[in-house]
Amino acid sequence: MSRVVQKFGGSSVADAASIKRVAERVVATQREGHEVAVVISAMGDTTDDLLDLALQVSPHPPARELDMLLTSGERMSAALLAMAINDLGAEARSYTGSQAGVITTAAHGNARIIDISPGRVEESLDQGHIVIVAGFQGVSQDTNDITTLGRGASDTTAVALAGALGAKYCEIYTDVDGVFTADPRLVPGARRIPQIRYEEMLELAASGAKILHLRCVEYAQREQVPIRVRSSFSDKPGTWVTDQSLIDQHPETDLQGGPAMEAALISGIAQDVSEAKLTVVGVPDEIGKAARVFSIIAENDINIDMVVQNVSVTNNTTAITFTLPDADRPRAVEALLAERDEIGFREVNFDDEIGKVSVVGVGMRSHPGVTATFFKALADAGVNIEMISTSEIRISVVIAEADVPRAVQAAHTAFGLDADTGEAVVYAGTGR
Ligand code: ASP
Ligand code: MG
Repeated sequence: MSRVVQKFGGSSVADAASIKRVAERVVATQREGHEVAVVISAMGDTTDDLLDLALQVSPHPPARELDMLLTSGERMSAALLAMAINDLGAEARSYTGSQAGVITTAAHGNARIIDISPGRVEESLDQGHIVIVAGFQGVSQDTNDITTLGRGASDTTAVALAGALGAKYCEIYTDVDGVFTADPRLVPGARRIPQIRYEEMLELAASGAKILHLRCVEYAQREQVPIRVRSSFSDKPGTWVTDQSLIDQHPETDLQGGPAMEAALISGIAQDVSEAKLTVVGVPDEIGKAARVFSIIAENDINIDMVVQNVSVTNNTTAITFTLPDADRPRAVEALLAERDEIGFREVNFDDEIGKVSVVGVGMRSHPGVTATFFKALADAGVNIEMISTSEIRISVVIAEADVPRAVQAAHTAFGLDADTGEAVVYAGTGR
């Protein structure tokens, strides 16, 4: 008997009817002869609603209490799903993250999984139960307090549990039919990708594709867990996120039916409008100044993304530009201005209305001209490039936020990714 983990996102369990539909799918999987562990998200927009509620009660809720509040969303849906499954004649048991043995760091709101000790889950599975685990939460090893793992992190709970249970694969059920060549909400002609390598999925997730949580892909690659992304609203095959070596071990994960995964020139395009751009102007062109600027940012626990420093042309000063999360921008400006005299720069400028568009594909390693094609498409669409950064398998540009939809569509067309079939269906979700 093989074990599988199935994760259902908030839009798949938005109301009572959807919970019953999910229950049927889970029970059917058990009746096919699998041991099934389910990881569940909070219903619909519950997490956002709980956050709004907290802010109405208190402008700065303590992080510990916020985690107590937010974890209740997943606990609700876990218990409800167990009830629906029991009505279908199967036996289900729901567990909180803590009961399921999800041990984390103490960082409320953004804790990391240190280990999973799934003793109780194993026992339950051995007794023939369908196990339901509340996603996105755990318990801190140091403080014994309840923690959350960051927004969207039920995916990570699911893959980590699959790794700990030695599951054959982890299915992530969402409101679209898999991973697409671009966000189907922006590009109606986006195509489903039947198979994608971990490294490409990592770059897409890191570049803003919201289909999978970044840490879940890191986990899957490390633990070699194949992930199948598919819709809970259809029976379409979805997308396998895996590597060739795993396909050879588990032929059922090969949706292309071919001998090897094709090395696509461009696998997909991702966009991210959650960042801001900050420029420190008039920095003396001296050793150690850039180090000072970024130490200040680091001391404030702010993660930066792209960095550009221009050549000093006039009066031996330079400008340093970087991108960072929108939410951290005010703090970064304040922290830098506090040290203006010491560092000797002139001023700090910022722009919150920027977006990043990235093209990703392992094929670009061996093909010249990808950058030229991308930039020509942007030019033809009348989009101005403000910053550029690349990795071996990714090219990203920072542009005006208002240009993002146009830029994504233009790149999608330029790389020949447009499909003429209306494959990209968005079944649910408010996109909140
Ligand atoms: N409910 C949490 C969120 O909305 C976790 C998740 O759905 O993955 O971020
Ligand atoms: Mg999600």
